[in-house]
Amino acid sequence: MNNPVKASSASVDIAIIGGGLVGASLGCALAPLVDRHGWRVAVIEATALPKASEMSWQPSFDARASAIAEGSAQRFRQLGVWPAMAEQAATIARIHISERGRMGTTRLSADELGVKALGHVIPNAWMGQVLHRRLAELPLEWHCPARVETITPEAGGHRLRLSDGSELTPALTVLADGGRSGLKEQLGISSEKVPYDQTALITNVAVSKPHQGIAYERFTQDGPIALLPLPGQAMELVWTHQHGSEKSRMALSDGAFLQQLQQAFGDRAGRFTRVGSRHAYPLSLVTAQETVRPGLAVLGNAAHALHPVAGQGFNLALRGVMDLVEALETGKQHGHRLGSMETLLDFEQRRARDRHNVIRFSDGLVRLFGVNHPLLSHARAAGLVGLNLLGPLRKSLARRAMGLER
Ligand SMILES: Cc1cc2nc3c(=O)[nH]c(=O)nc-3n(C[C@H](O)[C@H](O)[C@H](O)COP(=O)(O)OP(=O)(O)OC[C@H]3O[C@@H](n4cnc5c(N)ncnc54)[C@H](O)[C@@H]3O)c2cc1C
Repeated sequence: MNNPVKASSASVDIAIIGGGLVGASLGCALAPLVDRHGWRVAVIEATALPKASEMSWQPSFDARASAIAEGSAQRFRQLGVWPAMAEQAATIARIHISERGRMGTTRLSADELGVKALGHVIPNAWMGQVLHRRLAELPLEWHCPARVETITPEAGGHRLRLSDGSELTPALTVLADGGRSGLKEQLGISSEKVPYDQTALITNVAVSKPHQGIAYERFTQDGPIALLPLPGQAMELVWTHQHGSEKSRMALSDGAFLQQLQQAFGDRAGRFTRVGSRHAYPLSLVTAQETVRPGLAVLGNAAHALHPVAGQGFNLALRGVMDLVEALETGKQHGHRLGSMETLLDFEQRRARDRHNVIRFSDGLVRLFGVNHPLLSHARAAGLVGLNLLGPLRKSLARRAMGLER
């Protein structure tokens, strides 16, 4: 992909800070409103885009793959990017949840729920390519590579100073910077951070037999192991460790790593035959204390960074993207000024319950399965057996994981 042409510093109505998964999705989702209302939108991304032949990317589009719920696939269809996304997507046909050393297992299948797929797994780098190809077709202003260095509230919006020397004064600024750039702090928006004392080790593994679209979630003494189907005979591994204990595994030879994984996971997915490069992500629950202010909306990881155990972070954020676009359209129809609190409070109202539920669901899962207590362990196993028997509850869990229930 070619680097988009740097924009001149013309005045813009909406500025999106961050062209990662969330900022890029928002840029695509705003296309009809740009068309309809003539709004000028700028996307500012700090990291240069790679060439089309390169898969490596900025933070959002690194070596990971993401579990994309069926609800998110529907939203990508609305954005017109699903056919391209699907080229590199593996379908999740079944989910298998179990606990090492315990009898309980829970199985969920697309057939049983009457849907074509429970979800999809797509490499982040591919999602980045598809979203940015679509963005390049739209009449948006591009500042890339350019970093927003300062953000200052002023009458009617914010003043943004960029590292490329330009200044923007949008009526609406959307903070989709992943939450680590210091811009929230410049605005005095605090975040609550609860470290999990866990680190996720991420890699791809090749397996000896076809995965048949099964996604595994296995709870072990060390923490949960998720194994997600990828296109072909490969799977994405998310192996959560007590913080610090991942270091020795990161340093193992490929052979020794595969042996330890086999021992921890068992052989239900077949033999692990090859492993790719390994990456470590320390895990915390981070929630911004404010997500809207006059002329400002906070989205994605800047608003909430979750434990990846349930694969919900981006799925939740994408619902936020779509809700923001709907609130902007409704605000326009009611004659509200772009960036007004009427519109942004409408957006916040649409988001609050979903965000609360998903954070509670993901956090609860980590706390329930992260504690290594024998009694709890039995209770969890009983819970899993029970969950397998209790149809409606299991279906509700599945519908939530699919992004079809809030
Ligand atoms: C190990 C792991 C596995 C995960 N698996 C899943 C999954 O299976 N399913 C799921 O739904 N979610 C998953 N998630 C969550 C998901 O990855 C995040 O929700 C998503 O990456 C958030 O994207 P973002 O665009 O908000 O932030 P980021 O990915 O952090 O992107 C922010 C972008 O902003 C740019 N930027 C930063 N500062 C500035 C600045 N000052 N000026 C301009 N640009 C700037 C950065 O360069 C970057 O491109 C997982 C997360 C982890 C850690």
